[in-house]
Amino acid sequence: MSYSNYSKALKQLEVKPQKLKKYLKHNAPKNRKFGIAVRRCRFCGRIGGHIRKYGMELCRHCFREQAKKLGFRKYS
Ligand SMILES: [Zn+2]
Repeated sequence: MSYSNYSKALKQLEVKPQKLKKYLKHNAPKNRKFGIAVRRCRFCGRIGGHIRKYGMELCRHCFREQAKKLGFRKYS
């Protein structure tokens, strides 16, 4: 399991309520007030390579895909 698909694991465990209970007890992510994991990509939920400039809140991967739509231009 990675940090991006925590909810996916919960969906799978809906069939097994006892396992879901155990999973929540031991694996639920902390509610964070500050730190790197507070800011996630709007599209994919990634926490690495985050771009906050201009209020974009995207990771570098999604930025590369969306840059042209957003009006960015490559100069080199
Ligand atoms: Zn992303």
